Amino acid sequence: MLAGNEGRVDRMAHSESQAESHPPSIDAIVRLLSAHSDLAHPLLVDCARRAVASGLQPVFDQALVEVGRAHQRLLRGVINATGVLLHTNLGRAPVDTHSDAMYTNLEFDLDTGERGSRHRSIAPLLSALVGSESAVVVNNNAGALLLAVSALAADRSVLVSRGECVEIGGGFRIPEVASLSGARLIDVGTTNRTRLEDYATAITAAAGDVAAILKIHPSNFRIEGFTSSTAVSELAGLGLPTIVDLGSGLLDETTPWLTDRHTADLSWLHGEPGARQALAAGASVVTFSGDKLLGGPQCGLIAGSREVIAQCERHPLMRALRPGRDVLLSLQETLLKYLSRTVRTEIPFWEMATAPVSGLSRRAVEIVERLGFGAVIETAAVIGAGSSPGTHLRSVGISIPGDRTGELRSGVKPIIARCSEGATVLDLRTVSPKDDPFLLSKLGALSAFQ
Ligand SMILES: *Cc1c(COP(=O)(O)O)cnc(C)c1O
Repeated sequence: MLAGNEGRVDRMAHSESQAESHPPSIDAIVRLLSAHSDLAHPLLVDCARRAVASGLQPVFDQALVEVGRAHQRLLRGVINATGVLLHTNLGRAPVDTHSDAMYTNLEFDLDTGERGSRHRSIAPLLSALVGSESAVVVNNNAGALLLAVSALAADRSVLVSRGECVEIGGGFRIPEVASLSGARLIDVGTTNRTRLEDYATAITAAAGDVAAILKIHPSNFRIEGFTSSTAVSELAGLGLPTIVDLGSGLLDETTPWLTDRHTADLSWLHGEPGARQALAAGASVVTFSGDKLLGGPQCGLIAGSREVIAQCERHPLMRALRPGRDVLLSLQETLLKYLSRTVRTEIPFWEMATAPVSGLSRRAVEIVERLGFGAVIETAAVIGAGSSPGTHLRSVGISIPGDRTGELRSGVKPIIARCSEGATVLDLRTVSPKDDPFLLSKLGALSAFQ
């Protein structure tokens, strides 16, 4: 009863205020808005309607706020000053995008003039880098894992260690993704210790039903203390296909593409398993993301035995998971940089990860001197995206008083910074030096409010 009465009062109040304020026509608001914004007409109409519906006055000012929000919702480039190199919310690794309108030989064999495979360009490049027989690309690593398990073990059992049943963020759990293949996942061992005998016992108990062994790299956490896990080389000895989900996708633990290794601190890489090493240890296939440590576009890569890759390519899911032209072009470019060993200077992720602290300091000092306020501080950057958990990269930032993160996020090129202990911190390790002048001018514009 009470709720009903209140509802009636609300409706009356609403109709009275509408009668009083004579809301202007949507058309009139849109005409005014179009002088301030180049947003498409239907979007301006939507902004005008929202402003009127909000009941807030003056309605035109409110409509401008809506236009600002509509602009902010559009996908755009941002400056990442968080110090998290692979920030999942900011699209992980920064990559160049192709915007040319053009046809490509995506599925066309220029030699024979006949239909070709979409994976033809990538497979030999990736195979050369990780020592595999073949390779295939899908939209992301979750898709790569789903496809590999589907191709090898649908309707049969797959063994996975209890200590490797991980959740990767956003509420997604690897075992749940893998079981969408139709395979039955059997956990073996315990949370902290899984031994080779646990796998062997489970294989015997399942009486021929186990089709594959899945080993998942627990990317985003570390278990310490009384622990043990089983090496890929031991698992491979069990005689079943072994799928190794590496996650972050370091191609090779020896980082042969970093020719001037001695100058960079790579201790954060310690413990990240390499695709080449997992395959050499006997994995049938490895799966990993393209936009984590590889530093390329969002995609999932599967590399390994010719036979298993062919099964993946033939699987109906391949059609649902296949990547588009722009992803393949960008991935191809990334892999070519590894092969020509220009990773350090041409793949932005590696450029940022290996940038010497002295250079970051110089940039920070120059910005703060020109600004005339703020301070240069030592910071700790992290890799992010579940890679190298618990490790830091020494870094340098600019600290300015107060929480200015909201103001920095506004405008055509938002700067994403963090607020720490009442100050705004901009970490320069994740900011391209090309963006320093913009950073300086945006920070300079803040000073008026100090
Ligand atoms: C990140 C990660 C995934 C998911 O990869 P996406 O490319 O984000 O789909 C799967 N497994 C592991 C171990 C990971 O670290």
